[in-house]
Amino acid sequence: MRKLIAGNWKMNGVSASLVEAERLMALFEFAGPEIVICPPATLVAAMAARFRGSPLLVGGQDCHAQPSGAHTGDISAEMLKDAGASYVIVGHSERRQDHGESDAAVRAKAEAGRRAGLAPIVCVGETESERRAGRETEVVGRQLEGSLPRGPGPIVIAYEPVWAIGTGLTPTPEDIAAMHAFIRGRAGGGVRLLYGGSVKPTNARDILHLPEVNGALVGGASLKAEEFHAIVRAAM
Ligand code: PEP
Repeated sequence: MRKLIAGNWKMNGVSASLVEAERLMALFEFAGPEIVICPPATLVAAMAARFRGSPLLVGGQDCHAQPSGAHTGDISAEMLKDAGASYVIVGHSERRQDHGESDAAVRAKAEAGRRAGLAPIVCVGETESERRAGRETEVVGRQLEGSLPRGPGPIVIAYEPVWAIGTGLTPTPEDIAAMHAFIRGRAGGGVRLLYGGSVKPTNARDILHLPEVNGALVGGASLKAEEFHAIVRAAM
């Protein structure tokens, strides 16, 4: 399975930041993993236009479940598709926490992504207290059951332990491999499984070559072309 390295810029970036994506593409080797950058919504169209026809794909960071309507401030999957996106992240823990998104809401967004022709990247992961209590597979199993889109269609799953996001902490390689084996058992063979949470150039190689790890979802380190490129290289 071809690996996928997805960068999540979160609420970072203005039009001048597109230079960072250009610097990344200047470093890029074409035979490597698939690369996606999910910039803030304000940059999706500009980034997609700038890199149309290149190997760099663009994704949204969230979408509304409805295609259109009275939902002030929201963006539909159809709008992301129209802007040139190929992927959409749904169920990121920052959205589950900051916006109270339930598993059912995440599933509706993932299904909206498919409806619009986007591949949803569905995020799951336990909190620190859940892991300390030994409940990580129970929690992730419940999230998978409730958040994955129903029926056939594209899907990527990102295992992102909440306590590893932006903290510099990562699970042990054994713990990542065990969780990915668990998710693989639930999701089936054809689904790309990403690991996310403090992936850096220094740990990327160890993580990206674990069994059932088909790529990474990268936050902070995706903002700097050299760091993101080093992670892409580590996947090869
Ligand atoms: C993320 O937010 O998806 C993420 C993995 O962030 P970081 O790499 O900064 O931990």
